[in-house]
Amino acid sequence: MDVLENYLQHLCGTANVKRDEPLAKWTTFRVGGPARYFVIVEQKETLVRIVKALEYLNYPYFILGLGANVLASDKGYEGVVIKLNFHKIEQNDVFVYADAGAKLGAVINYAKDHELSGLEWASGIPATVGGAVYMNCGAFEHCLSDVVVMVDVLSHGEIKTLTRNQLDFSYRHSIFMEQPAVILGAYFHLDHGKKAIISAKMREILQKRQKHPHEPSAGSVFKRPKDGFYVGQVIEQLGLKGYTVGGAQISPQHANFIINTGHATCDDILQVLYHVQDTVEKATGVLLETEIIFLGNID
Ligand SMILES: Cc1cc2nc3c(=O)[nH]c(=O)nc-3n(C[C@H](O)[C@H](O)[C@H](O)COP(=O)(O)OP(=O)(O)OC[C@H]3O[C@@H](n4cnc5c(N)ncnc54)[C@H](O)[C@@H]3O)c2cc1C
Repeated sequence: MDVLENYLQHLCGTANVKRDEPLAKWTTFRVGGPARYFVIVEQKETLVRIVKALEYLNYPYFILGLGANVLASDKGYEGVVIKLNFHKIEQNDVFVYADAGAKLGAVINYAKDHELSGLEWASGIPATVGGAVYMNCGAFEHCLSDVVVMVDVLSHGEIKTLTRNQLDFSYRHSIFMEQPAVILGAYFHLDHGKKAIISAKMREILQKRQKHPHEPSAGSVFKRPKDGFYVGQVIEQLGLKGYTVGGAQISPQHANFIINTGHATCDDILQVLYHVQDTVEKATGVLLETEIIFLGNID
């Protein structure tokens, strides 16, 4: 055992520190090689201490939410992958605070139970609060920045609260993509609503999402490059639905999803992704940008 492993075990307990943990177990694509260290952190204070120590040592780390938007390298990650296991949710009138490790679904249910409306559209999006804020996830013409008013972060060793105007939110974008920080929790501004109406909206959204592929994936792979350019439709019109490399396939159900049909590798997924990018660029002149986040060395 080395010094870093010893330190992580001291702070998190031996059961919460794993060595060479397969990332395939922790990403919704179900691909990815071993993380040198994988740590489950139960308390915000512990997270702050670990991140400060890793930054001091200049040791690479990656905060993982549900891994629902992450493509992890087959070679794994030579650093510490940190998974948050604290998930407090609190209400103060129309404001809800949620820890970064809370599932977005839990926040939506909490809001419904407290007769607060504004998050129903996000029903069914697999995410933690940290990952949802980082990605500014969205659906059905809404996105998280409609309701997030403040975010607590750890940045350069300091805990700060950033307000919405400091978060540089735009379509699938937040400030954290250029200025990395650890998201500790977020504050949502919701509206009073009736539980029955909120529940009905949530059911309607979940019903619509039933049409999405159910195989392992990371949701939509490519961002919409401009208004009126529907990526899924373009990929479908180019005859790419069902295109397969190894275990990776363009979903026959939804052409902006790449699915893992069973034994995909990261490399299979990348080959499909590059093929789509090339084909779409040749046909339309538009180079599609990916929405998914890469973890580890991707060639
Ligand atoms: C079936 C399916 C459907 C989906 N549908 C949608 C959809 O409708 N709309 C949509 O927008 N997305 C969708 N997605 C993608 C995904 O759900 C979102 O991007 C979500 O926000 C990812 O959250 P996560 O917690 O899994 O983050 P992860 O995928 O684990 O991480 C994403 C990024 O956030 C960073 N991050 C996570 N937590 C923190 C933190 N505490 N501090 C700092 N950085 C952090 C990670 O380092 C990484 O860079 C879908 C995915 C799947 C599998």
